Amino acid sequence: RTIAREQDTVDSDRERMEQSMSEVMNVTDMFGRNVFNDAVMRDRLPKSVYKKLKKTIEDGAELDPSIADVVAHAMKDWAIERGATHYTHWFQPLTGVTAEKHDSFISAPSDGRVIMEFSGKELIKGEPDASSFPSGGLRATFEARGYTAWDCTSSAFLREDAIGVTLCIPTAFCSYKGEALDKKTPLLRSVQAVNEQALRILRLFGNTTAKRVTPSVGAEQEYFLVDRAKYMQRKDLIYTGRTLFGAMPPKGQELEDHYFGVIRERIGSYMNEVNKELWKLGVPAKTQHNEAAPSQHELAPIYEEVNLAVDHNQIVMETLKKVAGRHGMACLLHEKPFAGVNGSGKHDNWSLTGDDGTNMLNPGDTPHENIQFLLVLACIIKAVDIHADLLRESAADAGNDQRLGSNEAPPAIISIFLGEQLEDVIDQLCSTGEATHSKKGGTLKTGVNILPDLDKDATDRNRTSPFAFTGNKFEFRMVGASDSIASPNTVLNTIVAEAFKEAADILEAAGDFDMAVHDLIKETLSAHRRVIFNGNGYSKEWVAEAERRGLPNLGSMVEAIPALTTEKAVKLFEEFGVFTRAELESRAEVEYEGYSKAVNIEARTMIDMASKQIIPAVIKYTTQLAGSICAVRNACPEADVSVQTELLTEASDLLSDMKVALAALIEATDKASAMGGGREQAEAYHGVVAPAMEALRAPADRLEMIVDKDLWPMPSYGDLIFEV
Ligand code: ADP
Ligand code: MG
Repeated sequence: RTIAREQDTVDSDRERMEQSMSEVMNVTDMFGRNVFNDAVMRDRLPKSVYKKLKKTIEDGAELDPSIADVVAHAMKDWAIERGATHYTHWFQPLTGVTAEKHDSFISAPSDGRVIMEFSGKELIKGEPDASSFPSGGLRATFEARGYTAWDCTSSAFLREDAIGVTLCIPTAFCSYKGEALDKKTPLLRSVQAVNEQALRILRLFGNTTAKRVTPSVGAEQEYFLVDRAKYMQRKDLIYTGRTLFGAMPPKGQELEDHYFGVIRERIGSYMNEVNKELWKLGVPAKTQHNEAAPSQHELAPIYEEVNLAVDHNQIVMETLKKVAGRHGMACLLHEKPFAGVNGSGKHDNWSLTGDDGTNMLNPGDTPHENIQFLLVLACIIKAVDIHADLLRESAADAGNDQRLGSNEAPPAIISIFLGEQLEDVIDQLCSTGEATHSKKGGTLKTGVNILPDLDKDATDRNRTSPFAFTGNKFEFRMVGASDSIASPNTVLNTIVAEAFKEAADILEAAGDFDMAVHDLIKETLSAHRRVIFNGNGYSKEWVAEAERRGLPNLGSMVEAIPALTTEKAVKLFEEFGVFTRAELESRAEVEYEGYSKAVNIEARTMIDMASKQIIPAVIKYTTQLAGSICAVRNACPEADVSVQTELLTEASDLLSDMKVALAALIEATDKASAMGGGREQAEAYHGVVAPAMEALRAPADRLEMIVDKDLWPMPSYGDLIFEV
């Protein structure tokens, strides 16, 4: 019988293996199956139409509207063959999430029959009722017209879910007057700007082949998974995405046993489904692992053109949430779902790629001789130093306020980590005017004969830097997990375009190019090296040092928002046609409003939970205690009831602290919400309401530690993060 059982196990193992092998083989078929991609277009479009469309997609040529009908027709046929019934213009308003309105393909019935229609006009232009999207005053509600315009550089795709099959057409969203009401339009403008200036730099170094330079971006996405049934018992998670109360469990992340730990089956099967969904949508999901905190994970795709990367990151966030529901879990994208536990960010990996394959951020083996790279590097350092405030602002959202500046997240100060090798090259350049050598990584020796010797990178990693050079790209780590990566990349592209332009202006006019470029690199690096910092960015010393260097430390979102509308910012964005002054002002408006609303919801959720759940539970507990004290005394007058009495006193004291803090929070919230909006209101939420929330939380969390667990009205941190 034992042998038979073993045989069974072997058989089922083999079966499972074969099954997973066939799944592996299928990935190539699965990938991009639901995308109207290049291969499909080549297949289905007349050659001339395909060529014209390609010219827009690849060279940025203006879209020829006459081809729209043909493309729409092909798109519709392809979608309907796959079961689609509806199409939607998929866009990214200033809410930071995506928006869509579904229309079916059916025509007006005649003879009681319908046909499926989709015209070029419907492909190119949509007109959602725009009045309910934030516009920051760009558009009064009575002039509600807003248009969505087809972005052919990001492929249309089919979304399959319980709703059915929907053809999603990525679009930009603009007002009647052409002002950008979304995150995509400025991003596309910034891509144009950096392309133009980067090409000037390449030409100066004799590159005549590249026709286009585009930012490449890979966004690593962190997230938490919690059990859905427990999630549903926490109003704070439901309404705000983070816990507003909660005492630390006895075990946190101190053992460091979760990071890169074995992925458990429940999580693994979730990740498996996420990957398949993403692959079908052409999102190149690549890496998955457990993150630092218990129940925290990460997903990283392979990098792509920035516009696609931004769209794909939105799809990643949507998919992570949707699939979690199917597995009885909830996915938390909030930057700080649990106080005292690692927060979630999104590392925005950024580089500049030419269509001839050049990566302008590739230092090569001997960076000291790579003058083009050194110029590019100097320009980026300059851009980041001058516009540190804008970069910081681009990563600001209400959730990220809980994360930035806390000890396990990058500080709110922008600095650049270059690593030993580049730092040394810069030292040489700045001190002697000449860089003569580059440090090498050498070989890594393990001391074990059977292990191969490994080539070391020339530079170790630095986890604490908000803006780190990692080999052939920069990694901007400030961005919050729930935020769109559109704004950070719009800022990066534009500030680098400006630095490139200033360099190209000088160098194109110079007599002796070699001399001029050498001087320019040296001057630029000397002027801006204060932003380079290779030490521990999480330390207190760095905060003081940064202040000494004059680097801005914008500790919160409300302090960061004014960066959008400084004269420096307006000049920058207007020069490159990325934002007008009015568009910038509108964004500042939308951000203040968004912040105020977020904190208002949090405060009201706390008030609700404290009044209706926590205080009643504590009263129940203290009543039970009091009853027990009386009962014990009655039954046995000489018994010692000091423990119960002490607990009762402590709980009652904390209860009364809670009541006082609750009243204060109610008052602060009412006052703030009655204000007229804008900066002043946001400052009230930040300066008065947020501290009042902290004050209410403190006694509640202490009560959670003493009140009978059976009476506590919601799952604890331990329940949430250790029992998924
Ligand atoms: P690391 O572990 O150093 O962060 P990874 O190889 O894991 O590096 O890459 C992290 C992310 O950076 C991935 O999304 C990856 O595709 C992306 N990436 C890699 N090279 C580049 C590049 N040249 N430009 C932009 N993103 C890149
Ligand atoms: Mg990384």
